[in-house]
Amino acid sequence: MYIEVKENYDIKNMTSFKIGGRVDKLYFPGTESEFIYLLKTLRYPVILGNWSNVLISSAGIRGSVISTSKMNKIEIEDTTIIAQCGVKGPKLAKAALENGLTGFEFMSGFPGSIGGNIYMNASAHSQSISDFLVKVGVFDLEKKETLIIEKRTLDFAYRSSVLQRKPYILLWAEFDLAKKEKIQIKSFIKKILNFRMTYQPTLSSPNAGSVFKNPEDQSAGRLLDKAGVKNFRVGGARIWDKHANFIVNTGNATSSDVLELMFMMYNAVKEKHHIRLCPEIKYFGEKTPREEDICNIIYNQK
Ligand SMILES: Cc1cc2nc3c(=O)[nH]c(=O)nc-3n(C[C@H](O)[C@H](O)[C@H](O)COP(=O)(O)OP(=O)(O)OC[C@H]3O[C@@H](n4cnc5c(N)ncnc54)[C@H](O)[C@@H]3O)c2cc1C
Repeated sequence: MYIEVKENYDIKNMTSFKIGGRVDKLYFPGTESEFIYLLKTLRYPVILGNWSNVLISSAGIRGSVISTSKMNKIEIEDTTIIAQCGVKGPKLAKAALENGLTGFEFMSGFPGSIGGNIYMNASAHSQSISDFLVKVGVFDLEKKETLIIEKRTLDFAYRSSVLQRKPYILLWAEFDLAKKEKIQIKSFIKKILNFRMTYQPTLSSPNAGSVFKNPEDQSAGRLLDKAGVKNFRVGGARIWDKHANFIVNTGNATSSDVLELMFMMYNAVKEKHHIRLCPEIKYFGEKTPREEDICNIIYNQK
């Protein structure tokens, strides 16, 4: 078995934020058995898909990281699609379109992998990753065994799934989609892409999607806007001018810049609306004492 590994590797350019530092060991399993071998043997590895919902410390990550980017096989038979965890959403949306299947159009608009999308319960444009999901294969890090879990047990809620609460790593997912005319699917995808170009930053302004989750029945973007954060900036990190719930890296932002800016946004909304926002972006890696303090407040609400 040969598994590609990079040592002391700078992962900054692998992230959609273009922020990060060096990782001690970065593994790229190419098959399910290689992935499971790593999951059985490495101590507390960090698993990352397309690095589009994460802020990685500029001081890097000590220990092992597994990238699922080579776990990218797709099988299609009639309306059934089985995708490995590292398949990227836009690629799967394209494959569904080519086969006249509807349900994945929303994924053409953002960069997440299937593993990240199920972990986060990704959704947009009235579609969600759970809509057509049937079952998934996971590796249980505690029991060291592979399990097949039906959709109802995945406990999906807004930006949350059982993967965030149990030691499960997603290996693959099976979906049963619906048939539709390709021309209608294509036109929906076009609409989605146009919407994205107008109302959300593209990856030419490096970002990690929405910074904070929407509180119940509220829009985080609107609360932030009303709290007057639009002109906030710290170092190379600033609020995107068209939508207050996006932070963009103007070129040389560090993880500290982003965390400080998130803290300012969090405090502005707390003071103006008495609401504590909860981050959607996940943080990984080393922390200075100051970063530890900020994370304790905004992530752990301590
Ligand atoms: C421009 C832009 C637009 C976006 N728009 C949207 C949107 O409209 N809707 C939306 O929901 N999100 C959106 N996002 C956020 C992001 O793309 C999604 O959250 C996506 O699901 C993250 O997938 P990923 O593969 O990049 O995950 P990563 O960022 O790599 O990881 C995210 C989390 O998932 C975990 N994870 C990844 N793979 C696995 C696995 N195989 N098993 C277990 N855990 C795993 C990681 O450990 C981490 O905690 C956007 C992001 C950007 C940059």
